[in-house]
Amino acid sequence: MNEIRELYQEVIIDHGRHPRNFGSLEDKTHHAEGFNPLCGDHIYLDLHLEGDIITEAAFRGEGCAISMASASLMTEMLKGKTVGQAETLFSDFHQVVTEGKANHAAELSKLGKLSVLTGVCEYPARVKCATLAWHTMHNALSNQLSEIVATTDDEYE
Ligand code: ZN
Repeated sequence: MNEIRELYQEVIIDHGRHPRNFGSLEDKTHHAEGFNPLCGDHIYLDLHLEGDIITEAAFRGEGCAISMASASLMTEMLKGKTVGQAETLFSDFHQVVTEGKANHAAELSKLGKLSVLTGVCEYPARVKCATLAWHTMHNALSNQLSEIVATTDDEYE
C-alpha cells in the first residue's frame, strides 16, 4: 500500500506543478468559475462541446497542489466523453471521496487515473480541494443545458 501511496503522491505533485490543459479556450461553449473559500482554490474552466461530446477542456487559476492536480487530471479525462459520462464520473468520484470507499477495488477501477486523488477521503478538509474542478464542470454544463431547454421551449411556442 505504501508504494501505491508514493506513486499517487508523485502523480499529484507532477500534475500540481505542471498542470495539463492550463489556459483558456478561444472557442469555448461552456464556462464556469469555481472557488473553494476553505483553502483559497480558485479556478476558471472552459469547455468546448460538439453536440453531446466534450471535445476540449482547459482551466486556469491558482490553488493548492490537490486542486490543481484534480483540475489537470479532470481536463485530461473529460476529452471525448459525453456529458452523461462526465457527470457519472463526477458522481462516482464524489461518492468515493465523501463516503470513504477508497479501498474498494471495484470503485477505484471505475475512476481510472482519478484514483490517485482518493486518498483525500482521509482528510475531510481536502475533499473540497479535490472536487472543486468537478463541481465547476457540473456548473458549466448545467448553465448551458438550461439555455438549451429555454431555446427548445421557444421553438415550440
Ligand atoms: Zn485546496
